[in-house]
Amino acid sequence: MKRVFLIGDPVAHSVSPAMHNAAFREEGIEWQYELLPTPVERLLQAVEQIRGDDCAGANVTIPHKETILAYMDCLTDRARALGAANTIIKRDGMLVGDNTDANGFLQPLIARGVDLVGASTVIFGAGGAARAVAFALAESGVSSIALMSRTSLRGRALAERISLCFPRLQVTVGDLDQITTAQLCVNATSVGMVPFSHASPLPPGANVPAGSVAYDLVYRPRRTMFLQQAERSGARVIDGLGMLVQQGAASLELWTGVSAPIEIMYRAAQRALLADHTEDIT
Ligand code: NAP
Repeated sequence: MKRVFLIGDPVAHSVSPAMHNAAFREEGIEWQYELLPTPVERLLQAVEQIRGDDCAGANVTIPHKETILAYMDCLTDRARALGAANTIIKRDGMLVGDNTDANGFLQPLIARGVDLVGASTVIFGAGGAARAVAFALAESGVSSIALMSRTSLRGRALAERISLCFPRLQVTVGDLDQITTAQLCVNATSVGMVPFSHASPLPPGANVPAGSVAYDLVYRPRRTMFLQQAERSGARVIDGLGMLVQQGAASLELWTGVSAPIEIMYRAAQRALLADHTEDIT
């Protein structure tokens, strides 16, 4: 029995084990997807565990998507360009860092027919997921990206990286006025995730414009405070479940080489969320 790990901290909220184990069962693959809670000081130990013969690969989540790059034997072009990896593939005993977040993020927008060409956009956050979102939006032809980051150094570093790759794109950091005219606002922070679901990345008094699209990468809860605020303003909302399934399906295809049973994965993730009894902290 091979194992696939999710390394991150926290990971207890994740529905990825339910989603991937349902897919493995469906495809007759005798693998087990397991949570590997990994505080920063245990990252090296986790990587050693992934190198073990019984491990077939891994996913990487908060807060390791950027720091994990230094532990990989090689990176795909995608992971190198983004500066973040969410998937570890094993090839001939080597650990390869890849990233399926960018494409996973775009799929729900494409499915809803959201036109990104020339759009003005806002991203809350500047971590691993925000990197993937920024590159996906830039590659889709948006006209501007306004980054809102709690740590301005991290926001500026991401802005510099995108500007270098996409010189024509207008990129700003911390300009709150951009929220009022944005056509798409994305929460790529963990703000609003259980057990702190009363929180929103929107600064007090700010809200997304009517008719815009608000997209939250957080999927636990599905209807986050950010999405509730956006709905009240007349925005269309997209929760993080679709992205979770799409990025997970792409990871599964990289590990196994089989075509991912997306519907099975979606239903398993949905069931796991419905069974959620995580207590909120207010
Ligand atoms: P990360 O690399 O740790 O980055 C987290 C980001 O959130 C950082 O920019 C951090 O700011 C910011 N942040 C955290 N707490 C904050 C607070 N209280 N106020 C303001 N900013 C705060 O994590 P990540 O991998 O990018 O993931 C971010 C979120 O996206 C997580 O909730 C994750 O579960 C979700 N996600 C969902 C999917 C999906 O498929 N739906 C995929 C990827 C990620 P600092 O830099 O200042 O610390």
